[in-house]
Amino acid sequence: MAEKKFDLVVIGSGPGGYVGAIRAAQLGLKTAVVEKDPTFGGTCLNVGCIPSKALLQSSEHFAAAKKEFSEHGIDIADLKLNLPNMMKRKEKIVSDLTGGVKGLFQKNKIETFEGHGSFKDAHTVVVTKNDGSTEEIGADKIMIATGSTPVELPHIKFDRDRIVDSTGALSFSEVPKRLCVIGGGVIGLELGSVWSRLGSQVTVVEFADRLIAGMDIQLSKDILRFLKKQGMEFKLSSKVTGAQVKGDKVVVSYEDMKKGGEDSFEVDRVLVAVGRRAYTDKLGLENAGIQTDDRGRIEVNEHLQTNQPHIFAIGDVIKGAMLAHKAEEEGVAVAEYLATGYGHVNYDTVPGVVYTWPEVASVGKTEQELKDAGISYNSGMFPFSANGRAKAFGMTDGRVKILADAKTDKLLGVHITGPNASELIAEAVVAMEFGGSAEDLARSFHAHPTLAETMREAALAVDKRARQM
Ligand code: FAD
Ligand code: NAD
Repeated sequence: MAEKKFDLVVIGSGPGGYVGAIRAAQLGLKTAVVEKDPTFGGTCLNVGCIPSKALLQSSEHFAAAKKEFSEHGIDIADLKLNLPNMMKRKEKIVSDLTGGVKGLFQKNKIETFEGHGSFKDAHTVVVTKNDGSTEEIGADKIMIATGSTPVELPHIKFDRDRIVDSTGALSFSEVPKRLCVIGGGVIGLELGSVWSRLGSQVTVVEFADRLIAGMDIQLSKDILRFLKKQGMEFKLSSKVTGAQVKGDKVVVSYEDMKKGGEDSFEVDRVLVAVGRRAYTDKLGLENAGIQTDDRGRIEVNEHLQTNQPHIFAIGDVIKGAMLAHKAEEEGVAVAEYLATGYGHVNYDTVPGVVYTWPEVASVGKTEQELKDAGISYNSGMFPFSANGRAKAFGMTDGRVKILADAKTDKLLGVHITGPNASELIAEAVVAMEFGGSAEDLARSFHAHPTLAETMREAALAVDKRARQM
């Protein structure tokens, strides 16, 4: 018999789990969280969004000081990289935020259990602590928020030294002279950018013929051009066939699928970033009779209920984009559904951002998706090179592209490559959430001079009346 009983037990304290637990507690549910790792916050806070953005910011400063400051009339005589201090700063940001989650749990009277959670049966979670001792907790409702873990290639095993996953590449103790990144997806481009800016010769090997599958093709071509200009190398349509560690070097062999034939090159380290898989290891799903799909993801219905109606699953462990904000919204939706009978996530307005330089951000449909669906649309585009603030920043790479319904002018998709694209996209998300039109954006005030004026100009361009500078 479980000693303690809760209205809701959440397994996992990532952005899905901790935000969902807080919302449940705010709505009056007696809530507990089980976390196996020593700190709260999951992948995102510990080894994902936050440490990667800390290093992206630091490396961006370093690259700007090296390559761009002189254009602003600032000469630095003896610029040096202090990697240990850069890493210390990243770790401090992480520990501040994971400590913050602990504080939020206390503030909201959420009981926490440190240990690995697994189902004993459909209403009991066993928590196995580090010392091997166990505790059983009873739950009326359960939210599975156990997240995801990096995919390991069967023929290229992680050795956590020369061949690493994203967690390893967030903590290299020195800048690798040459780094091979397997996978030209989000992690490959973000962490590849970090080490390229810090001095690595980075080569990205990507299976597909383009970067970031699913992104608007024009933006995908733009970002390839920008990253090449920064010194990164790309082998597209290429399949890595092996990576042999030889002393302190790794020989990477690959097959060029367009031209045919095998080749190889030598690097100091390899980052494998070929996707993530749902994490349900030792969760005991079978003890609760919970079904997974052919990719190991927990199956849910529109209310995020598993085949056991009192057990819910959210975030990276279910289908859909593996994004922190998607996990958060699902956590909130489950909590609200439990407390009120209503909970909803608008999957049509989930923004996606790649924090390269320039950044890439999009929401809604791409042109390709609209064409495939036979939806007629008007397109408006505006380049950052014609924006006064971007010129003042010295950051003119990129463009805003707005796609609106040809008949109703309703916003269907917004795609940006450019400075602060990650912030600019929020305007598009809100407009789309309200069912807004391109004209709504075009008629809204945008302070001058701001980067956001590119949004307004692109919206005007939908109606063919952009005003060039
Ligand atoms: P997770 O954050 O993975 O949390 C799951 C938690 O459950 C973990 O703490 C885990 O220890 C715990 N857990 C698992 N099993 C058990 C168990 N049996 N018992 C107890 N606890 C358990 N997304 C963005 O939106 N923006 C970004 O900029 C971004 N950058 C990223 C950068 C990197 C390098 C990586 C790897 C990911 C990034 N992501 C980003 C993706 C983002 O981190 C995930 O989408 C998000 O963390 C998913 O949240 P979650 O709550 O579903 O799972
Ligand atoms: P991804 O799915 O974004 O990219 C993986 C890439 O690897 C794909 O382009 C794929 O074609 C390629 N690939 C697969 N097998 C290959 C092989 N054998 N050889 C060469 N290329 C191969 O996955 P990721 O970059 O590992 O990121 C995982 C998840 O983390 C993503 O779903 C993403 O949503 C999330 N994430 C988000 C952010 C962000 O929001 N800024 C940042 C990092 C990670």
